Amino acid sequence: MVSPSTGQRGLYLFSNDLRLDDNPALNHLINQCDQLLFVYLIDPQESENSHRGFPRLSLHRWQFIWDCLRDLNSQLEQAGHHLLLLKGNARQLLPELCRRYRIDQVAGSYNSGCDEYRQWQILKHELSAQQVSCLTLYQNTLFSPEWLPMDIEQLPKQFTPFRKAVENLTVPQPVDLSLKLSQRACLLPLTEHQPWPEQPPLLSDYQQEQRTGTDSRRLWPGGSREGWRHYRDYLWDQEAVTHYKATRNILDSQKAFHHTSQLSPWLAQGCLSPRQVWRELTLFENQVCRNESTEWLKFELLWREFFHWNAHRLGPALYQFGGERGKTPLTSFYPQRFKSWCEGTTPYPIVNACMKQLKATGMLSNRGRQIVASALVNELEIDWRYGAAWFEYQLIDYDPGSNYGNWQYIAGVGSDPRGGRHFNLQKQTEQYDPDQRYIRRWQGGFAPAADAVGIDDWPILPPDGTSTG
Ligand code: FAD
Repeated sequence: MVSPSTGQRGLYLFSNDLRLDDNPALNHLINQCDQLLFVYLIDPQESENSHRGFPRLSLHRWQFIWDCLRDLNSQLEQAGHHLLLLKGNARQLLPELCRRYRIDQVAGSYNSGCDEYRQWQILKHELSAQQVSCLTLYQNTLFSPEWLPMDIEQLPKQFTPFRKAVENLTVPQPVDLSLKLSQRACLLPLTEHQPWPEQPPLLSDYQQEQRTGTDSRRLWPGGSREGWRHYRDYLWDQEAVTHYKATRNILDSQKAFHHTSQLSPWLAQGCLSPRQVWRELTLFENQVCRNESTEWLKFELLWREFFHWNAHRLGPALYQFGGERGKTPLTSFYPQRFKSWCEGTTPYPIVNACMKQLKATGMLSNRGRQIVASALVNELEIDWRYGAAWFEYQLIDYDPGSNYGNWQYIAGVGSDPRGGRHFNLQKQTEQYDPDQRYIRRWQGGFAPAADAVGIDDWPILPPDGTSTG
């Protein structure tokens, strides 16, 4: 059945929602408009060296995003559409695109970052002056604000009361598109359909230097179809979720072993929505097995949910040294120590192995992240924001709320009721790498004498000039 013509032209701006299903904002646009333009914007500044000495976007993450975009474009092409990729930021490019294509409506998603949220607010204002309406939804979480039992400002500051408040709510079902995309016309002229080669174009000279020789694309291939393939294999073929609770702390998070779900890169880019993940897991529980492990995976998805809304509650305080309480940790910035942490040449083999794995693959287990974050803050006495920025740069699964929320938690300026975590590195090694296989595998063994690091390494103020106590 052909849907009635609306005469409206719509632009969908993809960001961290790189999927067609369970995308209510896209569904809305398809129902409202009969001609559509699909756009993704990449800001090359993100991959250029910043004042911290490294960029915000690594080659690993860019490759993952590129694979996601290629997959999305190929799905769009099957329905007669095309994804337009442009370099630049939304405030520069979106108003002009709306003029050129005489767009009536724009739609997209919020993520957990406050800069992105602010950018959407400014855009909405600017576009309304052009008579363009704008719909932005929270669609990378289990609940949307109207489903939460409290206002965002009233959100509990700690995880446990949050979990108790939401764990008995019914997670809304994912929604499929109510109309086929092929029923809508493509606004982009054929002459502007660009090819999507397998290799991503390098965004900056800096990225050239980041080639590590490790093929993280083999382990985490981008795109919603690969995400589904991986998840179904993990869940239905391997039934690996049934031992999640016992294996989730294993340090070497190589995909083949299925120690954990490894879903975070696909969730971070929105190839899979958390509601889709939740529904599939519930189906598995109903049809195959429900045990402590399946429940624990849901529990972890609630952590993700907590950090997302926590980021919205905190706004800019999520990135502040002292967090919302303005606490000042006794840490500073020591360039040599920071460099040795990033490169994996600290006096601590377990930390080195983790940092080398992170740099080589763009991924690190949760246990590994906790260990290196604690070491940065407690052993090396470095301002946690430098560690968080390095993670932002390196991680394929980088997400503002989860990254900065977890860092604040460990640094003792966030949602940890105990006021921060200090992991004993010796004990962690004995417990999680007793035969040192992980350390050997990632060549963490380089260990200069503890007192060799930090000599002549005088504390200096961070580049933004703020005092760090
Ligand atoms: P599983 O153990 O299989 O868990 C399933 C899902 O639950 C994950 O994919 C993730 O979406 C969610 N989840 C699990 N643990 C957490 C957690 N502690 N916080 C938030 N969500 C969680 N996760 C990110 O997705 N992006 C980040 O940028 C990020 N930065 C982190 C920084 C630090 C310092 C620490 C300690 C943790 C960070 N995490 C981050 C959380 C966690 O380490 C990863 O989500 C997890 O390792 C991903 O592997 P997995 O998909 O196999 O997780």
